[in-house]
Amino acid sequence: EGKIVTIGEILVEIMATTLGHGFLEAQTLIGPFPSGAPAIFIDQVGKLGHPAAIVSAVGDDDFGTVNLERLKQDGVDVSAVAIHPGAATGSAFVRYRPDGGRDFVFNMRDSAAGRIAATPEAGAVLAEAGHLHVMGSGLPVPAVFGMVSASIPAIKARGGTVSFDPNIRVEMLRDPAGKAAFQTVLAATDLFLPSGEELSLFSGEADEGRAIAALLDAGVKEIVLKRGKAGASHFDRDGRTDVPGFIVEEIDPTGAGDSFGATFLVARRLGKSVEDCLRYANAAGARTVTVKGPMEGTSSFAELDAFIAATPVGAA
Ligand code: ATP
Repeated sequence: EGKIVTIGEILVEIMATTLGHGFLEAQTLIGPFPSGAPAIFIDQVGKLGHPAAIVSAVGDDDFGTVNLERLKQDGVDVSAVAIHPGAATGSAFVRYRPDGGRDFVFNMRDSAAGRIAATPEAGAVLAEAGHLHVMGSGLPVPAVFGMVSASIPAIKARGGTVSFDPNIRVEMLRDPAGKAAFQTVLAATDLFLPSGEELSLFSGEADEGRAIAALLDAGVKEIVLKRGKAGASHFDRDGRTDVPGFIVEEIDPTGAGDSFGATFLVARRLGKSVEDCLRYANAAGARTVTVKGPMEGTSSFAELDAFIAATPVGAA
């Protein structure tokens, strides 16, 4: 069985240690923590013991090294991560507000992630992929969309599959080129992983049932709707399955959706029932939110089994 491959940004996150607003005064920070939605996703795939690879780019600096060492340690093939001596690995500074919101300072504009390109190493990894996971956050980068759109037909032709986590800001859909890129991917999606308003944004339907029907009619085979602490729901032609979330104390929500998606996908590829896949994915998401740092809460199956045995679930 082929590797799960994703394409997209790698960065580090540096976090404020106190709740509050922004970075206008000197304060104690912690980090760097490995980050980037595609990186968190693929780290979780690797931790579950499934073959995994990422196509990306970092700078020749400690922030790049922190990521590459972590991904390698967790079993991810990083042979298609280009190291650019002339560019820095991007960073994001985050501070949580008392109301649960977040303030960010991003250093991404000229970062190495903007130089992701269709290198020979990327071609080699994509040529042997059994599954491509597409992250919406990277699609506006032309080289990323180029690789995604070229790989999808090739992967499908050899019996592989595609998942799609839109992971977007609304503005991306207002841009006609951005909207076309999203539609191209959606039309080829076997497993769609929206959360919150993304379901209505992509279906054009405000009502949940109609939104699901529209996406299934458009050819999406399975939809898993992430519902935060309430858990998740799975939809396909055969019906619907809801599994409630686990009751945990949320310390840092970043990365929950990515580790959730990776876990659902791997469990599904291992042939587990939809209900078991949702339970494992909810557990992975819940573990992620209990730990500071977006990739610090990724889990092995042994860790998920122990967590599931020890943690209460919310009301259905
Ligand atoms: P993000 O963009 O923050 O990575 P998301 O919006 O894609 O996440 P969420 O629905 O927030 O997705 O979280 C994904 C999954 O993680 C949920 O479906 C749930 O299983 C789990 N999860 C998230 N937050 C919590 C929480 N506070 N308590 C328990 N489980 C949670």
